[in-house]
Order: sequence, then C-alpha cells, then structure tokens
Amino acid sequence: MSKIYDVIILGAGPAGLTAGLYAGRSRLSTLIIEKGQDGGQIAITDEIENYPGQMVEGESGPSLIARMTEQAKKFGAERCSDTIKSVELTGEVKKLVGVKGEYLAKSVIIATGAFPKPIGCENEGKFTGKGISFCATCDAAFFEDFEVYVVGGGDSAVEEAMYLTKFARKVTIIHRRDQLRAAKSIQEKAFANPKIHFLWDSVVVKVDGDELLSSMTVKNVKTGELTTITADEDDGLFGLFGFIGYNPNSQLFDGMLDMENGYIKTDDNMHTSIPGVFAAGDIRVKSLRQVVTAAADGAIAAMQAEHFISNT
Ligand code: NAP
Repeated sequence: MSKIYDVIILGAGPAGLTAGLYAGRSRLSTLIIEKGQDGGQIAITDEIENYPGQMVEGESGPSLIARMTEQAKKFGAERCSDTIKSVELTGEVKKLVGVKGEYLAKSVIIATGAFPKPIGCENEGKFTGKGISFCATCDAAFFEDFEVYVVGGGDSAVEEAMYLTKFARKVTIIHRRDQLRAAKSIQEKAFANPKIHFLWDSVVVKVDGDELLSSMTVKNVKTGELTTITADEDDGLFGLFGFIGYNPNSQLFDGMLDMENGYIKTDDNMHTSIPGVFAAGDIRVKSLRQVVTAAADGAIAAMQAEHFISNT
C-alpha cells in the first residue's frame, strides 16, 4: 500500500513551493508533484524586480525559483515528477492517480496555476521574455520611454494598456475586431488617454529581431493586407504585451470543486468546497496574480492543512 502523506501539493510554482516550505517546517510529511519544470509562469520571466527584498543583480525567474525549490527541499518536502490524470478528493484519504503511480494524502493543496493564452504568432516562443510579455505589472518598467503594443480588446488588455502609459511613450492596442470587448467605463478612459492608439481589425502574425524584439508583421483580417512594424531606429526594440485571456489549469477538478470561469473558489483561508482540499496561487479566484500573492496563499494553505490534520 502506498504511503499516506499528510499533504500532497500539486504544482511547483511559487504557491506550491511556499506551501511545501511551510508544510515541511510544520513537520508534515509532504509531497510536491510537478509535471514539468518548477516555477510556473515565472520560469519564463527574464527579470524579477517586484518581489519584496528581491535586489539580487541579474535575478531571473528561474534563479529565484531554484532557491525556492532548494528551500522547500531543505525542510523535508519530497519531490516527484508526474502528470496527475485523475483525483478522488472526497474521502478521508485523498487519491491522486498519475502516469507513473498513485499518491495518497490526508490533505491536498492545488497550486496548478493559470497561464496566459499565447498570442499565436510565428517566433512567439523565441521572443517571450525578450520583448514579448504577458504581465504589465512585472515588465512595464523595462519599457520606460519606449513604444509598446498590446494585443487584445477585453478588460485586461485595455486596463493594462492604461497602466503601460505610465511608462511607455506610446501604447498601441492591436485588436482583431473594430470594437472593444472591455466594459464601457474602461473604454471611455482609454479613448480619452492621448498616449493610447488603436490598430483595429488586426492580428500579429509574426515577430522578429536579433536578440530582442524589433519588428513584427500585422495582418488586417478584413483586407488581408500585411504591414511590417519596425522599432524606432534610436530605440532598437519595442514591447509586445499579450492579454487575450488566461487558461486556468483546473480541468482535473471540473465538477468536483466550486469554480468561477474555471478558477477555483476558496475562502480567505484557501479552503475549497471540499474539506481537506485547499487551493493556492493563480488557480484561485482572486484579484492580483503575482509571485508575492501566490507565496502568501501557499503559506496560508499549508498552515490550514496542518490545522485540518490536527483536528480530524
Ligand atoms: P477576455 O474578456 O476573454 O478578453 C479577451 C480579449 O482578447 C477579447 O477582446 C478577444 O477578442 C481577444 N482575443 C481572444 N483570443 C484572441 C486571439 N487568438 N487573437 C487575438 N485576440 C484574441 O479576457 P480578459 O480581458 O483577460 O478578462 C478575463 C475576465 O476577467 C473577463 O471576465 C473580464 O471582465 C475580467 N476582468 C475584469 C476586470 C475589471 O473588472 N476591472 C479587469 C480584468 C479582467 P474578441 O473581443 O474579438 O473576442
């Protein structure tokens, strides 16, 4: 029979690794299961400058996450690389079935994250973190006085475009239709902002550059016309932000847990609708998805798992 852990943590991003650290320090037998590389979204972030105390020169997402991984291990959290295919969460012992084996625990912390939808253009992977970003809060400061482009027409795209005008000298929203999806009140503010420009009925089909993003091809979806946009000669680069929605990694829990638009609902203490099952980080319904809020969620979830185990 498989070992019954006190807590299994699904996902090794900042929320999962922080939960692992706190659970390990509380002397809970802890297993962190991750299907890919550690870090979630920050594994693809080139530079982190908004995590409190984060003043290490040249710090990248992967180097920050490597230290979080080490810290969780130091306090005894076990690690396992597997893809979980099904779960049984309602019993006293929770069961997770992966490709490589079955895992049992008294409590589960779901920290599987949410990932921005890719823009869907040629060379996107090559320039992600090198001009292409999916997080204005993280990366806007790198484009101080540069030109930036924002793809999308919903609340996120328009609100983030307005945030970007605090840094960039010009922000152009590229939208695939000629009307925004964003709420009217948000639209009005954007139309009144002199730094915001629009490229309607358009999609980005290709991005290019040497090391950094410096050109892109945009297609007018009505006429089929292709236009190449190149960086101002003095700038040598521009920013491209994608805000065309997110995909929460929650399909595994469909129909089991209360959710809103695919995000798991929790109370302030990370409890989901099933006792002993907690959610932490970007997978939750929440207002700010950042490393610092994910880490906080992970810490709370682990301490609540400890209370749950002690009281049952
Ligand atoms: P969203 O509302 O789903 O909007 C996505 C936008 O991206 C749409 O304009 C869509 O175009 C465009 N799009 C989708 N796929 C695309 C593709 N492949 N290529 C180009 N464009 C594409 O997503 P969101 O803005 O991230 O918002 C998600 C949810 O959070 C929404 O319910 C939103 O109301 C909410 N939210 C609220 C606030 C707020 O209240 N302040 C702030 C942020 C988000 P179409 O319009 O043509 O479909």
